[in-house]
Amino acid sequence: MKTTLKITPVCDWLANAKRPLIVAGPCSAESEEQMITTAKEIAAINKNIIFRAGIWKPRTRPNSFEGLGNSALPWMKKVKEETGLLTATEVANAHHVESCLENKIDILWIGARTSVNPFSVQEIADALQGTDIPVFVKNPVTPDLQLWIGAIERLNKAGITKIVAVHRGFHSHENSPFRNNPMWEMAIQLRTACANLPIICDPSHICGNTQLLSYVSQKALDMDMHGLMIETHCQPNIALSDAKQQITPTDLNLLLQNLVYRKANSKDETFKNILEQLRDEINAIDEKLLTVLMERMNISSKIGDYKKANNVTVLQTERWNSMLSDRLKTANSMGLSNDFAKNIFQLIHQESINKQFELFNQSAINNLEKTVK
Ligand code: PEP
Ligand code: MN
Repeated sequence: MKTTLKITPVCDWLANAKRPLIVAGPCSAESEEQMITTAKEIAAINKNIIFRAGIWKPRTRPNSFEGLGNSALPWMKKVKEETGLLTATEVANAHHVESCLENKIDILWIGARTSVNPFSVQEIADALQGTDIPVFVKNPVTPDLQLWIGAIERLNKAGITKIVAVHRGFHSHENSPFRNNPMWEMAIQLRTACANLPIICDPSHICGNTQLLSYVSQKALDMDMHGLMIETHCQPNIALSDAKQQITPTDLNLLLQNLVYRKANSKDETFKNILEQLRDEINAIDEKLLTVLMERMNISSKIGDYKKANNVTVLQTERWNSMLSDRLKTANSMGLSNDFAKNIFQLIHQESINKQFELFNQSAINNLEKTVK
C-alpha cells in the first residue's frame, strides 16, 4: 500500500547535504574525553559528518551498560561547540525527547527496539508535536514493513517532515554472517511505498563486526541509499557497548575513501541507448516466461483432470521431491542459485496444487460461493 508522506528533502534542512549523508560516532556516550576525542577525529575527516552517540541504551539484558542518561547530554553540547558537528541521539520515550530538545540536540533517532512498538512511537510523536526537528527512524527489529511505515506515519501526522529511514537489518534465526539479516528487499519495498522518503543504511548493526562493513556499505550505496550510519569510537576495543562492530575514525576515513560513489543515473546518450536495448530484451524474455508459465499451468490442469478421473490424490510427495531435486541440479549447472530456483519451483508447484485442488472440489467451491453470497 502506497502512503503519501509530507517529507522535507534533506537538502532543504541540512547545510552541505551532499550524498552520501554520513552519520558517525560511538554506540554509546561513555565519557567526556571519549566523546570529544572521537568527535574531533571525525570532524577532521569531514565537517559535514553528523555526530551520533547513544545516551539511553536499550540493552537486551539489564546488567549491560545502559548509557549514562541525562549526565551525558552536556557532552553533546560540547562536541557541537568544539567541532561544529551536528549531533544525533536515540530517543525511546517522551522524557528522552524533552531532555534532547532542552539540550539542543540537532537530530533524534528512534531505535529498532522502539519502532517495533506503536505505543512508544506515538508517545514520542506526541512529545515532538510543534517542533520540526529531524527524526531518523530505524527499521523495527522484526521484518514488518507496515510497522516501519506506521512509525514514520505517526511522526509525520505529528508534523515531523524531516524524516530519514534507517535500514539496520532484521532479527533472524537463520544462520548468517550478519548480526542482523539485511533483507535488502525490505528497504526496496519501503522505497516503493514511500517514494520521497530518504533511506540510509546502518552497516554497523547489520554486520555486528568490522570485517563486513565495507562490503555492506558499498552494497547500500549501489542500491542508491542516501547515506550511511557507522559506529565509530576512538578506542573500539574498550567500548562499553557494541565493541565488536565499532571502528576508529582512521578506519572510517579509509572505508569512506575506498567506497565507489556511483551516480543514480547517467545522461550519457550511448549509456541510455544500450540500457534501453537491454531493457527491451528483458521485457521480451518476461513475456516468454509468462507464456511458458501459462502453458505449464494448462498441462497441470490436464493432469488434475486425469487424477480426478482415476481417483488419485492431488499431491504425490515422492514426485515433488524428485522433481525439485532434478530442477535444482539443472539450475545449479546453469549457474542459478539454489535459493532462487527453490523459491521459484515452490511457488510454481504450490500454484499447480491450488489449481488441481480447485478442479477436484469445484462443486464444493461453487456451493461455498453460493452460501457466502
Ligand atoms: C544504536 O544505534 O546504537 C542502536 C541501539 O541501534 P538499533 O536500534 O539499530 O539496535
Ligand atoms: Mn550500537
